[in-house]
This record gives sequence, structure tokens and C-alpha cells, in this order.
Amino acid sequence: MRKAVFPGSFDPITKGHENIVRRASLLFDHVTIAIGSNSTKKSMFSLDQRRAWLVDVFSDLPNVDVDDYEGLTIDYCKKVGASFLLRGVRNGGDFEYERTIAQMTKYMAPHLETVILFTDPEYAAINSTIVREILRNQGDVSQFIPDRIPVSELTR
Ligand code: ADP
Repeated sequence: MRKAVFPGSFDPITKGHENIVRRASLLFDHVTIAIGSNSTKKSMFSLDQRRAWLVDVFSDLPNVDVDDYEGLTIDYCKKVGASFLLRGVRNGGDFEYERTIAQMTKYMAPHLETVILFTDPEYAAINSTIVREILRNQGDVSQFIPDRIPVSELTR
């Protein structure tokens, strides 16, 4: 069974994340989207809210589920028996960052393979940090978030 973990903060989920998960669901037998709780990173949306959106967006994909974890991603992958760590790359900045993380992962968990998918070009500029900034300033983010999420849920 080819099992992948897609870790992230998903604060909030964007069309870029959705694109990666939908493509990965065709490559792996199972994909777990794992929301990392990072004590130093304050999120805009609660864990429950982020989980609910992810569950809803991927409710049509039987081989995708949603979980959350604290601590090291490699430890979480080991716990759930995943052999693949999935990440998305949008641009050169992401590439350098992901390469460093992937190489450190290789030292620490040699059997865990990092698999990188490049974002489809139409989603390459979408970034959760900028989506949050637009929301803080009462802007319209509807074109950046999955169609299944009513934009009113992000702005209330
Ligand atoms: P993190 O804080 O771990 O970067 P994110 O939720 O921002 O968490 O991102 C999770 C994963 O999704 C990362 O691999 C990131 O590179 C990828 N990602 C984020 N935005 C996009 C996008 N627009 N297209 C493709 N991948 C993306």
C-alpha cells in the first residue's frame, strides 16, 4: 500500500493545496492530509475549522483522509506507516526550502521518500499567507479557495 502524508498548516486551504491533493490521490493508494499544530505559529483559523474544510473539500475522494499531529512530521509518518512525504512546490523559493527539508528528512528518516509535485501554473501564485492578509483587510478571496467552501465561512 503506497501511503503518503501531506503535511501543512492549511490556514486556510487554498486551490493550490486542493490541486496537489487531487493529483496525489491518483498517484498513491492513500493520502492523509495532516494538519500540523505548531506551538510557535499562531493560526488564523481553529484546528476544527481547518479540519472541517479539508474533510468537506475532499469528501468525494475515498482514498483521502484528514488528521492532525504535533511534533515532528517524520514521527507522525512513522506512526501512521506512511512511506511518502508529499509536498507542493510553487516557485524557486519553495524549491530551496523544500530541498533543505527533504535532505534533512533523509538524514533523519532514510526510508521516508519526499515526493514533490509542482503546482499547476494557474495556482502557482496562491499563498495562504496572502489569503489571510486579504481577509484581514476585508478583501475577496473567493477565487483562491476551493469552490466547495462558501466564502462567507471565511469572513464571519
Ligand atoms: P506549511 O506551513 O507547511 O508550508 P502550508 O499549508 O502553507 O503549510 O502548505 C502545505 C504544503 O502545500 C506545502 O508543501 C506547500 O508548499 C504547499 N502549497 C502551498 N500553497 C500551494 C500552492 N498554491 N500550490 C501548490 N502547493 C502549495
